[in-house]
Amino acid sequence: MADVAIKVEGGVKHKILDDVKKLLPEGNLSLCLTCGLCSSGCPATGLDGMDPRKFLRMLVLGMDKEVLESDWPWMCTMCQRCVYVCPMKIDIPQMIFNIRAARPRDERPKGIRDSCDVAVNSESASAMGTPVEDFKFVVEDVLEEYREAQPEFADMEAPIDKVGAEFFLNQNSREPMTEPDEMVPLWKILHLAGVDWTYGSKAWAAENYCLFLADNENWERLVTAKANMADELKCKTYLNTE
Ligand code: SF4
Ligand code: SF4
Repeated sequence: MADVAIKVEGGVKHKILDDVKKLLPEGNLSLCLTCGLCSSGCPATGLDGMDPRKFLRMLVLGMDKEVLESDWPWMCTMCQRCVYVCPMKIDIPQMIFNIRAARPRDERPKGIRDSCDVAVNSESASAMGTPVEDFKFVVEDVLEEYREAQPEFADMEAPIDKVGAEFFLNQNSREPMTEPDEMVPLWKILHLAGVDWTYGSKAWAAENYCLFLADNENWERLVTAKANMADELKCKTYLNTE
């Protein structure tokens, strides 16, 4: 069983806490009631013997070194559940983001770093590096298969590069590449609701690992590529399914 006790060693400094106060003037960590609501709904609670309340306590106690060395901040999904339930509205994921950004880029988790780098160098913005032609082929192939197998959806569309569509839809690249049938339920909903939508042949991938890497520059680069594609197609609304 993991050792979950907080051990305070060495001199107490509050650099992270002071930095957070500058960034989040409303986020007074001293307001924490230690109620544990954040930990109760957090999917990362218990991993590495840590949870959001304990993480916050360590920051308040000035345990910067231990927090910076911990891998737990990389296990947070950034789901925001803790902020939603916190009676004091303490923004734990923002703190986690800042702690991730404090680690040198080449020491951040390789899997997340590689996914960010691959996406930045992919025309599709795909963390799997999915080529544009592969995406088009899979969408067209799956659409044809469902039209034939389910006559009630014989006129369903899955447009790519439809100029002037209302919605520009992004899709996680894992779906066309490894679970293509997973794309279809959303197509059906959009079809039955009469929604005018399109994928882009470029920048269609929804995931953005640069966000999770705390790489602001590349995070923005990917979002900009997707927004530019939506503009190029003259779509009014960017719909990200992630
Ligand atoms: S939910 Fe908010 S107030 Fe309660 S322990 Fe977590 S951070 Fe503190
Ligand atoms: S944002 Fe992170 S810390 Fe908060 S509930 Fe989600 S996984 Fe847990």
